[in-house]
Amino acid sequence: MDNATINKTSVLYKMLNQYPLGDNISECLTCGVCNSRCTWFDQEGGPLPRQIIRMAALGLDEQLVNSNMLWDCLICNRCTQGCPMGISMDKVVRKARSLAIADDKISNDIKIGIKNRIELGDVNALTKDEFVETVEWLSEEFVDEVDDPKARIPHDIKGTKLLYLPNPRELATSLLHLTAMAKLFYATKETWTMSCRHTDVTNWAYFTGRNDMTKKMALMVVEPAEELGIETLVLSECGHGYHTLKYLLEDIIGRKPGFEVVSMPELILRYAQKGVLKFDPSVHPYKIAYHDPCNIGRKSGGYDAPRQLLSMICEGGVELTPNREDSVCCGGGGGMLQDSTTTMKRMITGKPKANQMKATGLSHLTTACLSCHRQLGELCDHYKLGIQVNTVAYLASESLIL
Ligand code: SF4
Ligand code: SF4
Repeated sequence: MDNATINKTSVLYKMLNQYPLGDNISECLTCGVCNSRCTWFDQEGGPLPRQIIRMAALGLDEQLVNSNMLWDCLICNRCTQGCPMGISMDKVVRKARSLAIADDKISNDIKIGIKNRIELGDVNALTKDEFVETVEWLSEEFVDEVDDPKARIPHDIKGTKLLYLPNPRELATSLLHLTAMAKLFYATKETWTMSCRHTDVTNWAYFTGRNDMTKKMALMVVEPAEELGIETLVLSECGHGYHTLKYLLEDIIGRKPGFEVVSMPELILRYAQKGVLKFDPSVHPYKIAYHDPCNIGRKSGGYDAPRQLLSMICEGGVELTPNREDSVCCGGGGGMLQDSTTTMKRMITGKPKANQMKATGLSHLTTACLSCHRQLGELCDHYKLGIQVNTVAYLASESLIL
């Protein structure tokens, strides 16, 4: 590439270099700091961030789309954190993935999930009737859970203060998580509801870089929430859900939403600080390590709320090394966890995280994202770490004093 020159005529180049910071690939110094910060590159295979940037700058669109690097990238932005020119790998990779020539490279699972979400309202194709049936059945069990015959898991009620937007897993394989969140809402004594039009905190279009689809899926959350007249939308624990529905929301939909957005750990912390929610930390008589989800921490600045909450619900939180902006991805980012063909690959992408977890010597770890939670749990099994993983909000529910 000695004599290579920047190709300002390629489709990708024209899509990039539109902002003062973030996707200014023509300013790349070729220093290679990004390579040194990619933990997946250090493993067997993995993307070469500098090469991705150089291919984009040189107009090698087709070669980039056809290279595994573009699709193996976890969009974790750990490389970006060290880039002296502030070039965001997230922006470059997602724009490259959005090229028309990339269409047949998008994972089938992600394509089906997006279609289900757009046509049926839920990535898992859960119908409105199935949603109602599941929530009403859980509601009957909930009476015993809180020992209150009047207790309910409400759905489709207009004019409540809070609306809970669950992760699809909470309506399928993680029903206990949904009940745990209901217990916390119950204890706030606020009016709250779920909605058959709000079954899904995820936005899989984000992984494809398709801005039109990303916006459409965000509006599927925003517009019905505005019709319900809520004050606060409460997001289930989801990394890219938090990034797209809180941190980037105004950019994505081009306006302010008619409500405030908070994550479940942020909501719990708020009511704990007011003295409404009280916890018994002796329920978890051990220290718990905290994993920063890339989309909540490094990409959205949401470092503190989960840590503050953790300090109230157990013997104390422990930092992984490194942490916060230097945190290591769980290995399931960038759409990899949503692609069922990557199970073995994710054990390689997650190996640095498994090593970090093992180094704590602890038996418990927590995080604020249900996707990270699943990947970390699978790493524990695969590497026989003997570590139990739960989300922060779930642990808060276990420590809650009713
Ligand atoms: S760290 Fe930034 S400037 Fe250096 S090679 Fe990577 S993208 Fe280019
Ligand atoms: S975003 Fe993450 S996985 Fe992708 S190249 Fe950068 S450090 Fe590696």
